Amino acid sequence: TAKVYYDKDINENVLQGKKVAIMGYGSQGHSQAQNLRDSGFSVTVGVRPGKSWEKAERDGFPVKTVREAAAEADVVMMLLPDERQPEVYYKEVEEGLEPGNALAFSHGFNIHFTQIVPPKDVDVFMVAPKGPGHFCRREYLNGGGVPAFYAVQQNASGQAEELALAWAKGLGAARAGVLKTTFKEETETDLFGEQAVLMGGLTHLIEAGFETLVEAGYQPENAYFETCHEMKMLTDLIYENGLTGMRYSCSDTSKFGDFTVGRYVIDDGVKTRMKKVLENIQSGKFARDWVLENKVGRPMFNSLQQKENNSELERVGRELRRLMPFVKDGKQDSEDITAN
Ligand code: NDP
Ligand code: MG
Ligand code: MG
Repeated sequence: TAKVYYDKDINENVLQGKKVAIMGYGSQGHSQAQNLRDSGFSVTVGVRPGKSWEKAERDGFPVKTVREAAAEADVVMMLLPDERQPEVYYKEVEEGLEPGNALAFSHGFNIHFTQIVPPKDVDVFMVAPKGPGHFCRREYLNGGGVPAFYAVQQNASGQAEELALAWAKGLGAARAGVLKTTFKEETETDLFGEQAVLMGGLTHLIEAGFETLVEAGYQPENAYFETCHEMKMLTDLIYENGLTGMRYSCSDTSKFGDFTVGRYVIDDGVKTRMKKVLENIQSGKFARDWVLENKVGRPMFNSLQQKENNSELERVGRELRRLMPFVKDGKQDSEDITAN
């Protein structure tokens, strides 16, 4: 069984007095910068001029270009989009890394797939929160936290592991549990989780259910509530008390359907394909496809995103949520979401 670290197991002094730069002020950037600051660390944000720059300034951070922030920092956390990190790293970060500095990530992709190869004389660690940035910030403010995985790829200073743990504690992650892993394990399991279950599996399950009802002539609004809106309530119950706790709140009629029909919908063929998905991640095929897609200007990504965002499910959902303002009040910046 894995060792799980909590607040009481971690001494954060090693990070105190260090100059910390967070590169990027998006989903993870704003959350990690604010959580660390509220935990007593001083943080500089490194971004390019534009929306994120202005936002970080409004939130009261010292803001610099990535190049300036990297040159001054002892610890650099890379929270730019994964696919942009290699270019920015080689142009603006690498020259600022001095022996004994630390380079950190929140996902293993670029190190594991060797898109970034740091000099040997710096620490390389990862603290990967296992939740979306806006949720990590919300939980921190509520006095809770989102679990995180940490890993050390290079330990030049001899303190990389302590630094990673201190970072995780500063994020509030050690309130929930911090687990040691490797860059390889985090990369492969993170990609698998988001592709097969948390995102790809879930979004397509919802869409298939919604379309089945609509194509059979049922009202789209009805279908939206049945296959999408209620999902949050059930997953909240799973989050709190497991599958059993969710089922406890539901009728025996629904449980009979769950037990007998669920395995007909999600049959052995699903698992066979999940194994293939995992193989494509492990072999590096998925990573090659994604790197190539970016090299050619993202034609497939852009057209699929356009199609997904404008599906009937999404159109019906936007309209219904507009009439339930309490559902999203203050929870996520809607200007960013509708921008796509
Ligand atoms: P976002 O897309 O939300 O944010 C990216 C940030 O990088 C923005 O502030 C953007 O600023 C800035 N940026 C983009 N290009 C440049 C550039 N060339 N120079 C300077 N700044 C730039 O990223 P995420 O937070 O989703 O992802 C960051 C990392 O965290 C990734 O490694 C990801 O895998 C990992 N991660 C993300 C999670 C999440 O919750 N989203 C969960 C766990 C890990 P601008 O406004 O100028 O575009
Ligand atoms: Mg993830
Ligand atoms: Mg991921």
